[in-house]
Amino acid sequence: MTSKALQSFLDENIADLKERGLYNEIDPVEGANGPVITINGKKLINLSSNNYLGLATDDRLKKVAKEVVDTHGVGAGAVRTINGTLDLHLELEKKLAEFKGTEAVISYQSGFNCNMAAISAVMDKHDAILSDELNHASIIDGCRLSKARIIRFNHSDMDDLRQKAKEAVESGNYNKIMVITDGVFSMDGDVADLPGIVKVAEEFDLITYVDDAHGSGVLGKGAGTVKHFGLQDKIDFQMGTLSKAIGVIGGYVAGKENLIDWLKVRSRPFLFSTAVTPADAAAATKAIELLMESTALNEKLWENGDYLKAGLKKLGFDIGDSETPITPCIIGEEKAAQEFSKKLIEAGVYAKSIVFPTVPRGTGRVRNMPTAAHTKAMLDDALAIYEKTGKEMGLI
Ligand code: PMP
Repeated sequence: MTSKALQSFLDENIADLKERGLYNEIDPVEGANGPVITINGKKLINLSSNNYLGLATDDRLKKVAKEVVDTHGVGAGAVRTINGTLDLHLELEKKLAEFKGTEAVISYQSGFNCNMAAISAVMDKHDAILSDELNHASIIDGCRLSKARIIRFNHSDMDDLRQKAKEAVESGNYNKIMVITDGVFSMDGDVADLPGIVKVAEEFDLITYVDDAHGSGVLGKGAGTVKHFGLQDKIDFQMGTLSKAIGVIGGYVAGKENLIDWLKVRSRPFLFSTAVTPADAAAATKAIELLMESTALNEKLWENGDYLKAGLKKLGFDIGDSETPITPCIIGEEKAAQEFSKKLIEAGVYAKSIVFPTVPRGTGRVRNMPTAAHTKAMLDDALAIYEKTGKEMGLI
């Protein structure tokens, strides 16, 4: 028998979300998530993936993944601490440590999971966490799970951070204090002020944690936001994901040997959940090797990002203040942003709207993620569709 309370909870809340234009429909992709995708049998220029370097469909990664299915099978077979640590997981971690320039790395099943795991393994109810107000949901959930006091500071506002760090220290209420930030904020494409954060952290002895999900493969010629600022020795946790620029799946923390050792004995998703598959680990390792060998894909990504940005700006769209290839088209009202996205999709560009609660109310947008795999012709076609649709809707 189904619970009546559950049914009425679901009916009311789903109807309410639909009414307010906050209900996200899911469009399944038929086949690969490359620069052109097929949805409902229709080919669309894809400007909504995080596949920044095009590696999710790269032949070199596919080849390695196929090979290890033959040598290692399709699953890791057990959690890491029993006997599910395969040679391929260790190779991945070793390569990532080299890539990030740190002593060691621990990998997890996803970026989301990694934040939940790593924050709560180090922070507890006697601690405080200073968290940028626009941090990703997985950081927020990781902070909540830790039971530490969460103190939000205004987005990238170093005066506010300093003031709140000072108050937290002077209160004498906390054993440890962490400052945590996204490296690149994915909704606006802006970059965290890591030099400013490090300065405050040094003054107040704060633990530093950077979630570089959108910076790795993108900034610092691919090595990430921390490298971009030359702060490798100053950041305790360099967190990253293998699902975006790296093109596969998984998350990781790069840091000092003793930190990684601690996470291996204390972080629960490492202890109690099976690791990524052999094919995932091998493909991700291959991706890191490619990024260490050449910056060509990274350069192409920036070239395409700059091209799309210039084109949209010239058409008269508000593209915000992105400092990375992420290019939002800020529309404002949620329903208008969703309507614009719908029309773009009908016309041949898959550019998804992002609305509250992912971004603040009244800043609904269509977000564009150009990648290294797009050709100039694809971007020109997308711009032509933006122009036509934007004019039809009176947005430009
Ligand atoms: N952190 C940030 C900043 C992200 O944008 C995301 C993905 N949306 C994650 C963590 C989670 O990464 P994953 O998709 O690998 O779980």
